[in-house]
Amino acid sequence: MTQIAPQPGIMEIALYEGGKASVAGVENVVKLSSNENPFGPSPAAQEAVRRVLHEMHRYPSTDHGPLRRAIAEVHGLDAERIICGVGSDEVIHFLCQAYAGPGDEVVHTEHGFAMYKISARAAGATPVEVPERERVTDVDAILAGCTERTRLVFIANPNNPTGTMIGAAEVERLAEGLPPQALLVLDGAYAEFVEGYDGGAQLVEARQNVVMTRTFSKLYGLGGMRVGWGYGPKAVIDVLNRIRGPFNLSAPALAAAEAAIRDTAYVERCRSENARLRTWLAEALMEHGVPSDTSCANFVLARFADRTEAEACDLFLQKEGLIVRRVAGYGLPAALRITVGDEASCRRVAHTIGLFKAGAR
Ligand SMILES: *Cc1c(COP(=O)(O)O)cnc(C)c1O
Repeated sequence: MTQIAPQPGIMEIALYEGGKASVAGVENVVKLSSNENPFGPSPAAQEAVRRVLHEMHRYPSTDHGPLRRAIAEVHGLDAERIICGVGSDEVIHFLCQAYAGPGDEVVHTEHGFAMYKISARAAGATPVEVPERERVTDVDAILAGCTERTRLVFIANPNNPTGTMIGAAEVERLAEGLPPQALLVLDGAYAEFVEGYDGGAQLVEARQNVVMTRTFSKLYGLGGMRVGWGYGPKAVIDVLNRIRGPFNLSAPALAAAEAAIRDTAYVERCRSENARLRTWLAEALMEHGVPSDTSCANFVLARFADRTEAEACDLFLQKEGLIVRRVAGYGLPAALRITVGDEASCRRVAHTIGLFKAGAR
C-alpha cells in the first residue's frame, strides 16, 4: 500500500465552485453569477496591457513597486505596508499559511466567503463557523466563538453573498475584543461599492491586529487578471512577503491594475451606476414578491419561499438565458444571488423573475 498522503486537512477541502458561465443549448446568455463589472475594465487598463505585450519575455517586477505606490497614492496609504497577490484570494491564502496551522482555529461567519475555509484547511488549521444575525455579521457571536486557539478572524464587509455590512464602530469593537494572538482580516472585496468607505484602512492604521484585503476583480472589472492586495501592520506584511512567490503577478496584470486604480473617473461612474441599478433591481424584485436585504455591494441576495422555489426560479432563468448564483453552499438554499448587471440585464432578470412568480414555469 502506498504511503504517499497529503498534509492533514487537505482532503477535507470542498472544491470552490465558481459561478456558471454557460447553459447547454442556450445562446447569448447574460452572466450574473460572479459579481463581475458589467462594463468591463477601464479603457486605460486595456491600453496599459496592450503597451506591455511586446515585453512578455521580461520577468515582471518582484516588489510591485509602481502598483503599490499607485494604490498608496490613490487611497492615501503607506506603500511599504501593501502586499499584492494573485487576487485577494492569494493574500487570504498567505495569511492562513503564515498565521494558522494544525491545532489553530480560523473563525468565519455563517454565510462567509468560501475561500476562508479552503485556505484554513490548506494550512492544516480548523475553520470555525459562527452564526450571523439575520444575515448580518454578529460581533458578539464572533467574540464568543474565539478561543485561545483562534489565530485569524475573517469578515467580509460588505459580505458576500449577503450584501450586508456592519458599521465602523462595530468593526472596531470586534478588533478591540479579540484575544491577543488573533488577527482580524477585513475582506474589502466590495468596499469600493460603498461611497466614502475606506474598507477599514483607518482601523488598520490605528491598530496592530487588523489587516485589510482588497481586489481588482469586482468594481475594477479585472477578475480575469487576478490582482488583489492587502494592507496591514509592517510586521505582518513582512511575514507575508516571505511566503509570496517573487513573480506572483504577471506584467500585464500589474500594468492593468495600476492603470485601473488611477482611472478614478471610471471607478466613480461604475460605482454610481451600480448603486442606481441595485436600488432599481431590489425594488423591482420586491414588487414581484421577492425580498432582499439592503445590499451594499454589486449584487442582490433574492429570497424565495423555500429551496424548491429558488431552484425552480434558477432553472427558469437559465432557460431564458440568465445565469445567477445558487448559494445553498453558503447556507442559503432559499436564496439566489444576482449580480447587478447593466440596465438591460437588470430589466431582463427582473422581468423574467416576474413571469416566474406569476406562474410561468
Ligand atoms: C470576489 C471576492 C474576493 C476576491 O477575489 P479575488 O478575485 O481573488 O480578488 C474576496 N472576497 C470576497 C468576499 C469576494 O466575494
